[in-house]
Amino acid sequence: MADIHFDYRLAIAAMEHGADKIRINPGNIGSPERVRAVVNTAKERGIPIRVGVNSGSLEKELVEKYHGVTAQGLVESALGQVKLIEDMGYDNLVISIKSSDVMMCVRAHELICERTDYPLHVGITEAGTIISGNIKSSIGLGLILNQGIGDTIRVSLTGDPLEEVKSAKLILRTLGLRKGGIEVVSCPTCGRTKIDLIGLANEVENMVADIPLDLKVAVMGCVVNGPGEAKEADIGIAGGCGEGLLIRHGEIVKKLPEDRLLAALREELLHWNENV
Ligand code: SF4
Repeated sequence: MADIHFDYRLAIAAMEHGADKIRINPGNIGSPERVRAVVNTAKERGIPIRVGVNSGSLEKELVEKYHGVTAQGLVESALGQVKLIEDMGYDNLVISIKSSDVMMCVRAHELICERTDYPLHVGITEAGTIISGNIKSSIGLGLILNQGIGDTIRVSLTGDPLEEVKSAKLILRTLGLRKGGIEVVSCPTCGRTKIDLIGLANEVENMVADIPLDLKVAVMGCVVNGPGEAKEADIGIAGGCGEGLLIRHGEIVKKLPEDRLLAALREELLHWNENV
């Protein structure tokens, strides 16, 4: 997927060198002839074009018409760009409307899906660092995807791109749109917690990342309430004072020294299919 701005020759070169899809904003590619040259190459090769509209670069006329950057303006901009390419005889298109204003982005998606059937690539742009980016993306994508709007997604974070992928998967799984993978639930800790639960929960989350099972793992802070609170999990561990419990569906399976809890959980997960 090549994201090309300004230079139409780069868009053409990207397609000639194997790009599966290109993203352009026809408005900054230049003259209609240049846009046409890009569209013709895409057409010859059957390469989809993603038409991207960003709140930061909305056309001046639309900002004036709607008295500022608005969802209506973003939609009109996107549909105008789509029409330009359609008029050149190509409709293998995907639309993306991005705004760093979460609710504006949600509104724009609600509006555009009433007016077109083209696939929509959904994301909250410039969402920020890990915490604010995740919150904004979760709320924005959650509200949009939960209405059945959207075909592909991007989570944008100022951070390691791997975190973007993890967040995207988690958002989809939380919405029930993606199955598979281990979900880790953990308690918030309280006065009963006698182990480093925060460290343990993070270790468990990393440990399960590559285990191809579809189940819920609980990491609980105490042996008093942990097993009960972890009832809905398939398997879990509950920390105690120097020792802890391995639990399945809320039932205690065995007691272990604290430093063996993580390894015991891993063992159980690796042999999960043999034991069920
Ligand atoms: S499981 Fe135990 S440690 Fe965790 S919040 Fe509940 S009572 Fe507190």
